[in-house]
Amino acid sequence: MSRYWGDEVASLSPYVAGEQSKAEGLLKLNTNENPYGPSPRVIEAIGQAAGPNLRLYPDNTSKALRQAVGQLYDIDPDCVFAGNGSDEVLAHVFKALFRRQGRPLLLPDITYSFYRTYCQLYDIPVQLVPLSDDFAIVPDDYAGPHRQPPAGIIFSNPNAPTGRVLALAEIAGIAAANADIPVVVDEAYVDFGAESAVTLLEQRPNLVVVQTLSKSRSLAGMRVGLAISSPTIIEGLNRVKDSFNSYPLDTLAQAAAVAALEDPSYFDETRQAIMRERDDLTQQLAALGFEVLPSMANFVFARHPQHDGGELARALRAQNVLVRHFNLPRIDQFLRITVGTPDDSRRLCSVLKRIMG
Ligand SMILES: *Cc1c(COP(=O)(O)O)cnc(C)c1O
Repeated sequence: MSRYWGDEVASLSPYVAGEQSKAEGLLKLNTNENPYGPSPRVIEAIGQAAGPNLRLYPDNTSKALRQAVGQLYDIDPDCVFAGNGSDEVLAHVFKALFRRQGRPLLLPDITYSFYRTYCQLYDIPVQLVPLSDDFAIVPDDYAGPHRQPPAGIIFSNPNAPTGRVLALAEIAGIAAANADIPVVVDEAYVDFGAESAVTLLEQRPNLVVVQTLSKSRSLAGMRVGLAISSPTIIEGLNRVKDSFNSYPLDTLAQAAAVAALEDPSYFDETRQAIMRERDDLTQQLAALGFEVLPSMANFVFARHPQHDGGELARALRAQNVLVRHFNLPRIDQFLRITVGTPDDSRRLCSVLKRIMG
């Protein structure tokens, strides 16, 4: 608390990111970073972009990046919005789309916790929709009729931190049943085996797909996020962006993002390796007695019937292995473990074996 703070600051409950330690010898499986570096072409593009031109402001419309995304999905670049990480894109989505006469935002009780942080920041009421007992989103729960007309709907697909996926037909159904409000699908993990809802946009102009280059493109350090939607929704996002920061993406980040999108073979190789390792890690954890939810992301969500989740996370930390534990209702027995390399899985499981005796 400080007497110099403005009225709202003390009442905020900021998002708590996973520990970002650079300590030597740490196995970092807590923030879903990609174990493989970015494409070599990315490093080359950053080198080329790093010159005297840095005296100039970057392209405030990220045009080349939006064109590369347009090519990837065969859509108009005017359907693409770029921001400083998808967290910033999401912040603009909340500000631009979800503030409607105090109507509530519908979201799962268990999903990316930043959504509730933005609701607090922007004063948007929250209506939580519980996941099923096996931690799946139940599409019918979003179909209405609603108790109160919602301002919008948001969830991640695959969901975080469960890793469970919703089929495209079910997302189409949710968007169709709520044609008057924005339905936002956060696809931070979609490249690890799920299908993107971008293909539904033509029929469902109320859909907003949010993506990031942090995970499947291994660019967490460059901060590049995207929203893909109908041109009028994108125009709304641009109005908020240009009321906040006209230059959210620097020159190097734009060059890096374009190069990453233009190297599909490196992208495929690395994400296939991660998907294969996800299946291996799932089997290794199951062999140690863990229950592992079926994941389509680059992490698994697992609990052990005989070992407390919080205690396991602390014991792993003491052995230099970082995983994520959420001290929240329904999921406090789970660990969220990022899928790394085969060596990472072996080290994790051998430490777990020792801890659990
Ligand atoms: C990682 C993550 C983000 C944030 O990604 P950035 O682009 O790095 O800001 C957003 N949503 C979900 C569900 C995530 O897991």
